Amino acid sequence: MSIYEHLVLRMARRWVAGSSIHEALEYAKQANSMGMKAIINCLGEHSTSKDEAESGAQEYMRLLDAMHEDGVDGSISVKLTQIGLDVDYDTCMGNMLGIVRHASRYGTFVWIDMESSPYYQQTVSIYLSTLNQYRHTGVAYQAYIKEHSLDLMHMLERGGIIRLVKGAYREDASVVYRSRKHINTNFRRLMRMLFKHSTRMFAIATHDGALVDEAIELSREHPAREFEFQMLKGIRDDLKRALVRRGFRVAEYIPYGMNISGYVYRRIRERPANLLLLARSLL
Ligand SMILES: Cc1cc2nc3c(=O)[nH]c(=O)nc-3n(C[C@H](O)[C@H](O)[C@H](O)COP(=O)(O)OP(=O)(O)OC[C@H]3O[C@@H](n4cnc5c(N)ncnc54)[C@H](O)[C@@H]3O)c2cc1C
Repeated sequence: MSIYEHLVLRMARRWVAGSSIHEALEYAKQANSMGMKAIINCLGEHSTSKDEAESGAQEYMRLLDAMHEDGVDGSISVKLTQIGLDVDYDTCMGNMLGIVRHASRYGTFVWIDMESSPYYQQTVSIYLSTLNQYRHTGVAYQAYIKEHSLDLMHMLERGGIIRLVKGAYREDASVVYRSRKHINTNFRRLMRMLFKHSTRMFAIATHDGALVDEAIELSREHPAREFEFQMLKGIRDDLKRALVRRGFRVAEYIPYGMNISGYVYRRIRERPANLLLLARSLL
C-alpha cells in the first residue's frame, strides 16, 4: 500500500473497517458483540473488464468462506457494477449466481445495493432472477426516485426482500426528488407499503430519527411484520445502541477495501460537515 493510500484510508476509518477481509471481520465481530448483525461490503464499483468483474465476485466468495469460518453473524452486500454490470448483463448475472450459489452453502443472506438510476431496471431484473434461484436475497430500494411504488408492489408480490433507503447518488431532477421534504414524504409512503404488504422480512435503512420513530409506530400497528433497522458504520452509533437496548433488530453496514473514493464521496455529499471531520482526523 502506498503512503497516499494509507493516508486516505486513515481519513476514512470512521466509515470503512480497513483494507482487508480480516479487518472487516474483526469489526463485524465487534458489531455482533454489541447485539447487531453485520452487512459486509467489499468496496468497488464500475469494473471495466470481465477479469476485474470476476475477481470482484471471487473476493465475495472468499469473504463468505471467512465469515463462516469466523462465525460472523451477518450478510454480504454487493454492487452489481463491481461484478460486471458495466461489462455486460450476462457477465454480471453469471457472477451474481456464482455468489449466491456459494452463499447457499452457508445459508448466508445476500443483499444487492442499488446504484444510480441508469442501472435500476437491470438491477431489478437481476435481483428477480437471483430470487428464483436463492430465496435469501434482498435489494435496496431508493425513496428519492419518482414514480416508484408500482415496482415495489411487483417485487413484494414476487416475494422480494426490500431494504428501503433514501438514495445516495447525484441524479437529474427529472428522475429524483431533490428536496428533503419530498424524499421523506416518499420514504414514509413506501415504508407504510412495506409494513402493510410485505410478507417477508424487510429493512428500514436510515439514520433519520423521525423516520425510525415512525417505523417503530408502524411496527406496533403491524406486530407480525419481521423487519430490521440498518445503518452505516460510523453514523449514529447512539441510535444503533438505543434500538438494540429496546429489543429491535439492528444490522450495521460495514465496508472494507481500497476502492473507497465513491463511498466516501457519497458520505460527504450527505453531510458536507464530514469534510471537516476527515481533515481533523489527519491532525
Ligand atoms: C444500510 C444502508 C444501506 C444503504 N444502501 C444504499 C444503496 O444500496 N443505494 C443507495 O443509493 N443508498 C444506500 N444507502 C444510503 C442512503 O441512500 C442515504 O444516502 C444515507 O443513508 C443517508 O440518508 P438517511 O436516511 O440517513 O437520512 P439523512 O436525512 O441524510 O440523514 C438523517 C440524519 O442521519 C445522520 N447522517 C446521515 N448521513 C450521515 C453522514 N454521511 N454522516 C454523518 N451523519 C449522517 C445525520 O444526523 C442526519 O441528520 C444505504 C444506507 C444504509 C444505512
